Amino acid sequence: MAWDFETDPEFQTKLDWMDAFVREEVEPLDRLGIHPYDVKNPIRNKLVRPLQARVKAEGLWACHLGPDLGGQGYGQLKLGLMNEILGRSHYAPIVFGCQAPDTGNAEIIAHYGTEEQKKKYLWPLLNNEIVSAFSMSEPEGGSDPLTFKTRAVLEGDEWVINGEKWFSTNAKWSEFLIVMAVTDPDGEPYRRMSMFIVPRDLPGVEIVRNVGVGYNEDGSEGYMRYTDVHVPRDHLLGERGGAFVISQTRLGGGRIHHAMRTVGQAKKALDLMCQRAVSRTTRDGPLSNKQAVQMQIADSWIELESFRLLVLHTAWKIDKEKDYRKVRKDIAAVKIAMPRVYEAIASRALHIHGALGVSNEMPFVGMITGAHVMAIADGPTEVHQVTLAKQVLRNYKPSNALFPAYSIPNQRAAAMEKYGEALEGLAALEAAE
Ligand SMILES: Cc1cc2nc3c(=O)[nH]c(=O)nc-3n(C[C@H](O)[C@H](O)[C@H](O)COP(=O)(O)OP(=O)(O)OC[C@H]3O[C@@H](n4cnc5c(N)ncnc54)[C@H](O)[C@@H]3O)c2cc1C
Repeated sequence: MAWDFETDPEFQTKLDWMDAFVREEVEPLDRLGIHPYDVKNPIRNKLVRPLQARVKAEGLWACHLGPDLGGQGYGQLKLGLMNEILGRSHYAPIVFGCQAPDTGNAEIIAHYGTEEQKKKYLWPLLNNEIVSAFSMSEPEGGSDPLTFKTRAVLEGDEWVINGEKWFSTNAKWSEFLIVMAVTDPDGEPYRRMSMFIVPRDLPGVEIVRNVGVGYNEDGSEGYMRYTDVHVPRDHLLGERGGAFVISQTRLGGGRIHHAMRTVGQAKKALDLMCQRAVSRTTRDGPLSNKQAVQMQIADSWIELESFRLLVLHTAWKIDKEKDYRKVRKDIAAVKIAMPRVYEAIASRALHIHGALGVSNEMPFVGMITGAHVMAIADGPTEVHQVTLAKQVLRNYKPSNALFPAYSIPNQRAAAMEKYGEALEGLAALEAAE
């Protein structure tokens, strides 16, 4: 029976290298005030390019991709373990060539793109020479595709796009956006939309404003307006009407990587909490001596460990089934648990740091906002709860019985039917003795 929780030693060596490299070389970049996605910034490139070269030399570049695209073809379990380390730092995914949303965008161009599209967009994207955005959610209808209003109409050899999108992350740095637009309004509900590669410098592509998350002034969530944007016909991505299916391809692996990066962040919060608990003293010794503090540390450890196992087990199942649809329930569970665990641990870490914890000199307020982002982005928690519950309920059939078969009287009756004879025999024997 195979039931093994150990990482193979060869891969563990790679993880150890990554861990030291991220802590020593990459994490300090987070504090320099240069955005990791600002690929045209020469200072950023001077710092990042040599680190990316080291990652490539270690054979750890863009590991989410197969060898045909320059990756390692690692399965989700290995990627999960790697992302746990990358989660410590905002810069780490960029340095390792696996940053969202470029990963998902590259994945779908690799899957559905033409040779021409790959040459023009995929290879520069994989080399982090350019970055991209995914322009799906709309200000009115959020991310429910059935409410989308942005339209693309075929006129001769061009598609003409009109509409507004919202929270197109990294639009301001992007070379192109993948835009989801209604091409067949009268089609079947999930066959109405298509995807397009839209170069950002096309006339009519406008960033109305860059929205920030939390109190961040320098936001990177593009509020987009597309006004009579003429896109060459061959910029359709995949087949006409195929946007919904393509978008599902994009999200499966990404959710697991996000979850593992969250494990990395939550671990960091727990580390800081413990560090503070043993260092900060009150009149009768360190905070770590107080049972109330110990309880918070114990609860955090359990929540983190349980969540980590759920994520790794889900990653393992994806590798085994090789079909995201068969693991939908598990992926939904991961998506639901992720913000809860992160927020709970970050909040306790903040609290144990007292005034310092709420200040802008600590990462906790940002972490808590980050947890809320995770509960909203890529579909709110409630939607995933519905998915999970439906999958669980599939295994149950309704019963018309007045009292359930599992009521104790009914169970006793069933047991008597099965073993009654034997009981009678036993009683007869006892009476004879
Ligand atoms: C930081 C960040 C980055 C993002 N990046 C991108 C991106 O790059 N590209 C992109 O296209 N989009 C992006 N999004 C948008 C994201 O996908 C949407 O915000 C998300 O899907 C929710 O849509 P909404 O904000 O319109 O919320 P709404 O749909 O208005 O939902 C608001 C609330 O209503 C409730 N609710 C909604 N639907 C249901 C339901 N079916 N059942 C029960 N309750 C429900 C929930 O409580 C939910 O939190 C990003 C969002 C964030 C926060």
